[in-house]
Amino acid sequence: MSTKNEQLFLQAKKHIPGGVNSPVRAFAGVGGTPVFMHKAAGSKIYDTEDKEYIDYVGSWGPMILGHAHPKVIDAVKAAADDGLSFGTPTTFETSVADTICDIVPSVEMIRMTSSGTEATMSAIRLARGYTGRDKIVKFEGCYHGHSDSLLVKAGSGMLDIGEPTSQGVPADFAKHTITLPYNDPQAVKDCFEKWGDEIACVIVEPIAGNMNMIVPTQEFHNTLREQCTQGGAVLIFDEVMTGFRVGLRGAQGHFGIKPDLTCFGKIIGAGLPVGAFGGKREIMECIAPMGGVYQAGTLSGNPLAMRAGIAMFEDLTVDGFYEGVADKVTYLVDGIQATADKQGIELRSTKLGGMFGLFFVKDSETQVPQNFDEVTACDMDKFNTFFHGMLERGIYLAPSAYEVGFMSSKHSTEDLDATIKAAAEVFAEMAAA
Ligand code: PMP
Repeated sequence: MSTKNEQLFLQAKKHIPGGVNSPVRAFAGVGGTPVFMHKAAGSKIYDTEDKEYIDYVGSWGPMILGHAHPKVIDAVKAAADDGLSFGTPTTFETSVADTICDIVPSVEMIRMTSSGTEATMSAIRLARGYTGRDKIVKFEGCYHGHSDSLLVKAGSGMLDIGEPTSQGVPADFAKHTITLPYNDPQAVKDCFEKWGDEIACVIVEPIAGNMNMIVPTQEFHNTLREQCTQGGAVLIFDEVMTGFRVGLRGAQGHFGIKPDLTCFGKIIGAGLPVGAFGGKREIMECIAPMGGVYQAGTLSGNPLAMRAGIAMFEDLTVDGFYEGVADKVTYLVDGIQATADKQGIELRSTKLGGMFGLFFVKDSETQVPQNFDEVTACDMDKFNTFFHGMLERGIYLAPSAYEVGFMSSKHSTEDLDATIKAAAEVFAEMAAA
């Protein structure tokens, strides 16, 4: 007898490639069958048989206020009553733009898109248009959505020009993308020495959240800022994940760095499809209709998404909001770490603001991973065992050792204690195995 989820997955696979509309949902890394969810509230998410899970995925980041927050839902209902999309300017777009520009000092102008991918893709085009240069620099293990120039990983050797890592990306596109090791200031300096006057931009996840979680050094960020300024390249912070997540001013607030452009997504739409890119006025004025870099979107700045975002920002800007979420992360991660230490499980953890990373390393000598190679050297089998043990106990973690955990303001102490207790049970099983 197959389970309900197995049946649903089989049905989904008939007309949807792999049964999913985004690959990481398929449980490819962790094995097993994805859970089909059908509703959520606060810190909890429920499957089609109404089994309850404490959710640390939060739709991959947006749900920092918890699921179905009444204020956000009311805003969306009111917006729907007024019509779904007009294809004209609205005051809601102005309001979201004003709010973000007020909060994030590096952002003087901002343009909305419908996804993070569009935001990064458009920021790259803008940087190329502004500088008149073609080459872009990205870092190994950083994910910036699925546009062609960004689906490139390093070839052999540190400063090699990349090869496409997705089929369907012409080598002619990929040859303009240079991939460097993350968190390595010398690699950045060497790259600028070699190609400085050809580099349009450097795009970086200022805190990496797509190879588990890496908080890079201040020196790495200082070097990026210095080299881009000296080399006349645009520094793009991809804060699609970290924006309004690690703190009100995102990773740039944490490091005290002013990027030239910033990409946002996830949280700013409160769970509706949104992205945005913004930054220095002089650069942003190069976008159509002001300038010659074309960028557009039928549903960009959609009223439902904007009104959901406006409602969400009301809570995000309350004093102490981020401290509250960060305290929950500290409580949870320290609790899990302590039980792992007690049971001799080689767990390493990272946390900042509303985000955390858990790594199963192979021996007691190995410290918290600091780059892509160190992340891939982790014990993926152990993660998978942990993931499934937690899932069975009603704890929903991201189904991949390369993803992070997301906390919401709605997670209660009972939720966190239940999660630590579940982890202790799974660790005990792992230690006995
Ligand atoms: N940049 C980063 C840092 C991301 O984490 C993601 C998505 N996880 C994207 C870009 C792409 O965003 P979207 O999935 O909305 O296209």
